[in-house]
Amino acid sequence: ESPEGRRMLEFRRSLPAYKKKEAILSVISRNQVVIISGETGCGKTTQIPQFILESEVESVCGAACNIICTQPRRISAMSVSERVASERGEKLGESVGYKVRLEGMKGRDTHLLFCTTGILLRRLLADRKLKGVTHVIVDEIHERGMNEDFLLIILKELLPHRPELKLILMSATLDAELFSSYFNGAPIMFIPGFTYPVRTHFLENILEMTGYRLTPYNQIDDYGQERMWKMNKHAPRKRKSQIASAVEDAIMAADFKDYSLQTQESLSCWNPDCIGFSLIEYILCNICENERPGAVLVFMTGWDDISSLKEKLLTHTVLGDANRVLLLTCHGSMASSEQRLIFEEPEDGVRKIVLTTNIAETSITINDVVFVLDCGKAKETSYDALNNTPCLLPTWISKVSAKQRRGRAGRVQPGECYHLYPRCVYDAFAEYQLPEILRTPLQSLCLQIKSLRLGSISEFLSRALQSPETLVVQNAIEYLKIIGALDEDENLTILGRCLTMLPMEPKLGKMLILGAIFNCLDPILTVVAGLSVRDPFLTPLDKRDLAEEAKSQFCGAYSDHLALVRAYEGWRDAEMDLGGYEYCWKNFLSSQSMKAIDALRREFICLVKDIGLVDSNTASCNEWSSDVNLIRAIICYGLYPGICSVVHNEKSFSLKTMEDGQVLLYSLCLIQWCFCLVEAY
Ligand code: ADP
Ligand code: MG
Repeated sequence: ESPEGRRMLEFRRSLPAYKKKEAILSVISRNQVVIISGETGCGKTTQIPQFILESEVESVCGAACNIICTQPRRISAMSVSERVASERGEKLGESVGYKVRLEGMKGRDTHLLFCTTGILLRRLLADRKLKGVTHVIVDEIHERGMNEDFLLIILKELLPHRPELKLILMSATLDAELFSSYFNGAPIMFIPGFTYPVRTHFLENILEMTGYRLTPYNQIDDYGQERMWKMNKHAPRKRKSQIASAVEDAIMAADFKDYSLQTQESLSCWNPDCIGFSLIEYILCNICENERPGAVLVFMTGWDDISSLKEKLLTHTVLGDANRVLLLTCHGSMASSEQRLIFEEPEDGVRKIVLTTNIAETSITINDVVFVLDCGKAKETSYDALNNTPCLLPTWISKVSAKQRRGRAGRVQPGECYHLYPRCVYDAFAEYQLPEILRTPLQSLCLQIKSLRLGSISEFLSRALQSPETLVVQNAIEYLKIIGALDEDENLTILGRCLTMLPMEPKLGKMLILGAIFNCLDPILTVVAGLSVRDPFLTPLDKRDLAEEAKSQFCGAYSDHLALVRAYEGWRDAEMDLGGYEYCWKNFLSSQSMKAIDALRREFICLVKDIGLVDSNTASCNEWSSDVNLIRAIICYGLYPGICSVVHNEKSFSLKTMEDGQVLLYSLCLIQWCFCLVEAY
């Protein structure tokens, strides 16, 4: 054994999960379903699959085990498998492997496979009984993602047919009772955690302590400005969520009379709809200049505000100084090579600051964190039942999430947590987050139910841990019938079957399919990618006219979507000569969004080739048609039946003349007719 191996074993033995190893193995051997609950970082994800692997391999009969451990995200499936392999002193693909969409590493002797929940669902499509699998471990069930809830319904039904199959559910927080009762009182194993004390500051304490002044101005930074302007112009008035109103009421009723006058004044300027970049910058700077060593973790909502904040911090004299600060980001769409950087220790005297989404809340552990900043929000898909559209919006987190974020600070030594909102706002948070299945549209899920041949959609969903409302289910089914993915009897059509192979919203999938069929995939890829990221057209308040002018040169008489296609094509040419940034700057485009569109296009094209919609040898984009009317017709078809509201908002499509309308309707008929033909044969 190498010294490295010995050190690793010693580390593993120090984890709380290791101390419960025998008890865990024994409860698993005596029960078909076991729930394991424990603090983040106690060793559930990395250790428990290994315990099973080791005990099975060492067992007298030498039974060949086959363990599948699901992770809610690609990034965790990949990084966890890497970590586990290295703990075992092996290369990935030996006894430990992983599989995520379009990527994987698995060998003949792989007995422990980490994969995304989606991958296991797909496997169930081909092999209903999970032949050869001995253990299924579903990790991070507390997140209550749609796929996980869906998987549990299927597994629950499978268990009686596979009595020797073991199911292990792992969760970070205390909601274990709910899962236990769903699985007929399955035993719960608690792993005690340990954290050092964390000093907690809410906004009022931060202001009082530092004397920082909030003004209406420093709450509206560039990012916020752009955002607010957009909201005023485009967003149809949304019904406020229950939590948002509770938070507003709490602020109205709050009483800060024990605080200094300056703090009270500051608090009256606090804007709950904004993330105050300036305050974050100020606190970070304070930490860097005055505080003891230790990494800083900043919880933001998503890729867009993370990159805006990063841009801002890089211009700061202290925070942007690479000799003093190692500024890193962490979010779901990052490549695993980039992600690996966040685990690394910085050089002496350099402070590591990680700007992250909520993926660092539970699924990823960054070891050296001592300071946490929590903006109090996370992006969550929510569902607008009126328009039947999903939207990804920053929403207030739950108390459980806030506690998790705070806990990240006390792992290595006593820590500090700065919540960037007042205490009364925290008190207004919900205890738990609403499960995804209850807050998002169910269209994709319904398609999956059908493709897995699980019978009636409503009957199937009624067996969920928490079932969605009947009306929401009916809406989803109705939508799928209207767009032609399901027939009148709720059976999958050919279009429906194609859509189940594209893991994205049906409307985007439809566009991709038609783009491939009609040989104009290149522009359609841009449109679909563009609809999945933050709008790249920037409209800063003080340069609104210039920005609109810049945009109009792309539009001509066409639509916003086509403007995007042209802007992207221009960017791609400029980027080839390394002039992408300048091009964006000149044309009021977000260079981050352009890069994201570029990356997504690549991913989508792999998917489209993967399922055989285009020939895998098709490489050159130039061969594709760029018939404007055809492209518009496809976009229209994709958005149908949502076109009316789109046209009404004048945001995404501009039907400027009667002829335009006729051309589109005509093309629309053509496309529908084409699908009838395909169906008929
Ligand atoms: P849990 O799933 O209970 O949250 P994990 O099994 O993910 O915990 O992690 C257990 C411990 O292993 C963490 O506290 C951390 O110290 C260490 N660890 C996990 N992943 C890594 C990694 N990629 N690099 C370094 N240490 C890691
Ligand atoms: Mg874990």
